[in-house]
Amino acid sequence: AKTLGKARYAVFDKEMHEKAVSAMDIESSLRTAIERDEFELYYQPILSSETDRVIGAEALIRWRKSDGGMISPGEFIPIAEETGLILPIGEWALRTACRQAVVWRDMGLPEITVAVNISARQLQRQDLAHVTQALLEEAGLEARLLKIELTESAVMADVDHAIAIFKDLERMNIKISVDDFGTGYSSLAYLKRFPIHTLKIDRSFINGILDNEDDRAIIGSIIAMAHSLNLRLVAEGVETEAQYELLGKLGCDEIQGYYCSPPVPAADFVAYVQKNHEL
Ligand code: C2E
Ligand code: CA
Ligand code: CA
Ligand code: CA
Repeated sequence: AKTLGKARYAVFDKEMHEKAVSAMDIESSLRTAIERDEFELYYQPILSSETDRVIGAEALIRWRKSDGGMISPGEFIPIAEETGLILPIGEWALRTACRQAVVWRDMGLPEITVAVNISARQLQRQDLAHVTQALLEEAGLEARLLKIELTESAVMADVDHAIAIFKDLERMNIKISVDDFGTGYSSLAYLKRFPIHTLKIDRSFINGILDNEDDRAIIGSIIAMAHSLNLRLVAEGVETEAQYELLGKLGCDEIQGYYCSPPVPAADFVAYVQKNHEL
């Protein structure tokens, strides 16, 4: 038993060690990734369930290393957050998305609101509103075409600070969306204090709506309460036509998910919008 215990420790140490080494590897290559132009934004269409037309896009970062390997944001965003590298990376994403929205606008595409993910660390920074304003001006984008997505947990980490920043953003006409809604501990009654525009219902609630009556009831009441607070509702992770139709019937305003399209490079997004709008 003694030797077995020892062997177990050895395996555990090895795993921990490998994890730490790989995090360090990611951190050091992350430091140079912006300069080397290794990031790209993909865009996932968001459709109005009323008209079935694309009205928005969520910008999702992709990292292609020089050796050709792709690293998913789920792997490197947490490391970027821990190390503070999310500040330059997040600014790059915001700048790139604003520029892209201007390109689409100038192509004469139907109006598209671009949603950009902002991490807790970026929100903590006092000047998020100021930085965003500067990037909008630099790109020449109208503030109303930008939406900022923050997770429920990022918002709850420092409520008073979040409210102050949100008020600045609201004054600037920038919309705020609470992402992954339902996974944290906040309630809609509580969120009433925040000047937010949109709630994005977490994917985990969407999975079961067809065969689980409880999930359907939860979504139904979230939608009803959100509408009574004048919030727009987006469902993410919609993978089937049946889910799409049911969410429309339940009154969900906007739909995003593989059923419509996965996140795609900017050029493919344009093709999708043109086809969807029959242009
Ligand atoms: P998120 O903000 O919740 O983004 C939605 C994720 O769900 C994306 O994963 C998207 O590809 C995926 N998804 C979309 N439709 C479906 C569907 O129908 N089914 C399933 N199973 N998944 C779907 P992705 O692109 O891997 O991004 C993962 C997370 O990384 C994002 O979750 C977000 O938290 C973070 N992230 C991505 N880009 C950025 C960024 O520019 N800045 C920051 N701070 N975080 C980012
Ligand atoms: Ca419909
Ligand atoms: Ca998001
Ligand atoms: Ca989400």
